[in-house]
Amino acid sequence: MTSYLSYLECTICGAKYPADRLSGVSPCCGKVLYARYDLPRIRAEVDRDRLVERTANMWRFQELLPVDDPYNIVSLGEGGTPLIEVLNLGEKLGVSNLYVKEEGLNPTGTFKARGISAAISKGLELGAAGFTMPSAGNAAGAAAAYCARAGLSAKVFMPQDAPDSNKKECLVAGSELNLVDGLIGDAGRQAVAVAQEQGLFDLSTLKEPYRAEGKKSMGLELAMQFGWRMPEAIIYPAGGGTGIIGMHKGFLELLELGWIEGDLPKFIAVQAEGCQPIVRAFNEGKDTAEPWQNAATVADGLRVPGPFADYLMLHAIRDTGGTALAVSDAEMVAAMYELATAEGIFACPEGAATLVGYKRLIAEGFLRRDETTVLFNTGSGYKYLQLIEGVGG
Ligand SMILES: *Cc1c(COP(=O)(O)O)cnc(C)c1O
Ligand SMILES: [Zn+2]
Repeated sequence: MTSYLSYLECTICGAKYPADRLSGVSPCCGKVLYARYDLPRIRAEVDRDRLVERTANMWRFQELLPVDDPYNIVSLGEGGTPLIEVLNLGEKLGVSNLYVKEEGLNPTGTFKARGISAAISKGLELGAAGFTMPSAGNAAGAAAAYCARAGLSAKVFMPQDAPDSNKKECLVAGSELNLVDGLIGDAGRQAVAVAQEQGLFDLSTLKEPYRAEGKKSMGLELAMQFGWRMPEAIIYPAGGGTGIIGMHKGFLELLELGWIEGDLPKFIAVQAEGCQPIVRAFNEGKDTAEPWQNAATVADGLRVPGPFADYLMLHAIRDTGGTALAVSDAEMVAAMYELATAEGIFACPEGAATLVGYKRLIAEGFLRRDETTVLFNTGSGYKYLQLIEGVGG
């Protein structure tokens, strides 16, 4: 046994549930369940400084991840991504201590791999027969790949207008691609119906407890890469919110373990002007977000009009003294060029959005010029080649 997972907890009322069976949302409140670990025992039994010697993928943090038997881990080498100091652009902007966490190097080209690896591994350990996945983008590609790796077929549900690259990565991995007339919400309803009908497990964002655990590993990894310190600010392109929520949870666990100390980084959420439910709720001082009407942006990962875990995202932002802001699609695409030209980092538009946000927060004085700040490039620009002007046509 490698995991110190002990129970699941409702994020609304604190009710506890056993972690030894497949679980979706909390039965009491119908909201997000968090995985809770036996932190006192980890503190007594695990030596933080030995973790760095392990293979550089997210499973080096196995004690703080949910899978009991390593045999059940479905891995393609997710995690262990570089933390790159932004040097040329830093000089140009007159800033220092600016970093990019390069999640584009994950299997399937985005950080979705982390969450999907955790959820599918734990699902299999608890007896799931197969998986459904509603997604308009990168989560579907990751689910398709990890199901293939596990020897299963994924049933993916996507809106008709989902990006070609995401449809193709599902097809090439042999998953069953169902194109749904309508929006991501409609795809979600179909996925749940099919899951119930056929005894499959549905992997919808934050409607099961373990994708957030995989994304938590980004925070654990950052702390380790900074020599067991936290940065002062994290700028993150927020869609469903798993990353912000997972990292916030991960830092709190590390603090409780005594593996790090100090203040949590300010969590800064960047959204697209054409879909900014969290920015609006943050600015209005609300604890939950109203769905955004007619959501539209080239950054598919940010096209989440009604995030299920809005309350957890807004809490993480406020709890850490962070903020939320929206940027335009044109600004994102310009920043893709800027990052690639200055640093050789070919970011996805979501990741490039964090650079736009950073520059604005520096100009406004919200961030100091030497504040240790991490921009999350959540995916590879290679999945978004259509956004780059063509050569010869
Ligand atoms: C899914 C996705 C996001 C949003 O991530 P959340 O953690 O769900 O907020 C950002 N960028 C890319 C490339 C994505 O695929
Ligand atoms: Zn509850």
